[in-house]
Amino acid sequence: MKKLFVALLVFSSSIFAQQQDPPNIILMIGDGMGLAQITAGMYSMDTPTALEDFPITGLSKTHSYNQFITDSAASGTAYACGEKTYNGVLGIDPKNNKLESIMEYCQSKGYQSALLATSSIVHATPAAFYANVPSRKQYQDIALQLSESAVDFFIGGGKKHFNMREDKRNLIREMEKNDFEVVKNLDDYVASTAKRVGLFTNNDEPQPIAMGRQPNLAPAVNATLKKLNQKEVPFFMLVEGSQIDWGGHDNNLSYILSEFEDFNGAVAAALAFAKEDGNTLVIVTADHETGGLSLTKGNMKKKRISGEFSTKGHSGILVPVFAFGPNSESFMGIYDNTSIFKKMKALVN
Ligand SMILES: [Zn+2]
Repeated sequence: MKKLFVALLVFSSSIFAQQQDPPNIILMIGDGMGLAQITAGMYSMDTPTALEDFPITGLSKTHSYNQFITDSAASGTAYACGEKTYNGVLGIDPKNNKLESIMEYCQSKGYQSALLATSSIVHATPAAFYANVPSRKQYQDIALQLSESAVDFFIGGGKKHFNMREDKRNLIREMEKNDFEVVKNLDDYVASTAKRVGLFTNNDEPQPIAMGRQPNLAPAVNATLKKLNQKEVPFFMLVEGSQIDWGGHDNNLSYILSEFEDFNGAVAAALAFAKEDGNTLVIVTADHETGGLSLTKGNMKKKRISGEFSTKGHSGILVPVFAFGPNSESFMGIYDNTSIFKKMKALVN
């Protein structure tokens, strides 16, 4: 009887502990990062990729509501909001209903939130987490919706959509009235003690990493994790390696590899944090593959891989999912991209 009581006590306290501590969620999207891109990265880097450290892998179907080949807006909406939609649409379902994103859901549960991208911050993938617009090209509307969102920290390009607008509004000044400090480089981002901080890395789209883009994604992730970890409340963070996709559209394998390496550094940083923290779920996936890349030749000693592209656009092949942390087992198997939203949401509950 006494044993049973102790067992019940342990059981109920573990349930209680789970309810007390909702986990942090770090969702990392390598845009256009299919298995060939990952494989090429694996065989060309000097050190093992961080992805090889993940205990759980799965596969995600990326088709959009009505098309086999998705774009980043429809796929971003699937991950962010759990619904398939038309290509080009952000945060709105095919029946024209406005959708709540996982980031907004987390915010409603008291979470902090952060968005990091190596594209502009109004680009399709990050925008899927805070914007509801019929076209991903409505950059000025998307910028306005970011300025009105509850996001605490962001790093990305696209400043001109905030301060050089057709409506003459200066959204940066408006955000500064709302506890935001908007800074120009990572040092200032790190040094800022403001409650909410945004770093614009470029007026327009940031450069490729091989052409000197600053900052690298890993220190940006580390700086943001440090800020988020200062508070007792949990957080949701989205990190996008945006330009792996652009290398794919260019059919340029060395562009893909340099962007993959930058993204891999960020994955390593997030994984190290999660291992130390013990209550952080890290999910790494892609929104789709880009370029229809196949790896046709390689030299393992020279760490040289060459491949052939079958399209200048996206392809419809399944993309891998890697998971570490609480409930990561639920990411095993083959499922729709919308399931990733559902699995994250179940965990926040
Ligand atoms: Zn693309």
